[in-house]
Amino acid sequence: TFFNKYHIDANVCKSLSLMGYNQPMPVQEIVIPHVLDGLDLIVQSNTGSGKTAAFGIPIVHHIKIDETLPQALILTPTRELAVQICEEIAEIGKYKKVRCLPIYGKQPIHIQLRQLKQRVHIAVGTPGRLLDLIKKKNLKLEAMKYLVIDEADELLKRGFWEEVEAIVKKMPLERSTLLFSATMPSQIEAICADYMHNPIRIEM
Ligand code: AMP
Repeated sequence: TFFNKYHIDANVCKSLSLMGYNQPMPVQEIVIPHVLDGLDLIVQSNTGSGKTAAFGIPIVHHIKIDETLPQALILTPTRELAVQICEEIAEIGKYKKVRCLPIYGKQPIHIQLRQLKQRVHIAVGTPGRLLDLIKKKNLKLEAMKYLVIDEADELLKRGFWEEVEAIVKKMPLERSTLLFSATMPSQIEAICADYMHNPIRIEM
């Protein structure tokens, strides 16, 4: 496929072609190489642009399959979005055998605790429940290499910003941070200024 030009893991390329992703969408064309290079990004783009795969493909590519601790954390404003992102990432990572777990409030916590005891490479969820599990040390952050803040403006609108900030502060410093938002209010700019490293801005 066209994705071969990024030298993506063969198992990931296999998934992409079976998913019918034969050619990168514009946001993917710009975002994928930067994520592969380990840069921090602020992306203003709308849903439907292909942004999930834009961060999902390079993150899945970089996952070390034998590492027992989670390596990427994706924050979303809703349970539905968490589930949707998890499904797409699981499909992208199907042949590489990458395990992705959705984590959100309202689901019984004992189920998530049991799942977290097994190997999880990527955790996707809403900030409240994630922060709970992080504080209780059920979700460990030491091996995290990626933080994705998806639909940041929606996270802010729904009153999750304190939790988002608390999670960002607990993440290891040596990581990539990718922030996606349709708008950039001052609170979001503040997190970018304080917790991102020379971020590249992309407006689609
Ligand atoms: P998103 O903006 O991430 O919600 O993606 C919008 C839709 O585009 C989803 O249904 C994806 O499955 C689809 N999609 C993402 N990337 C590609 C691609 N490279 N080729 C074809 N479809 C894609």
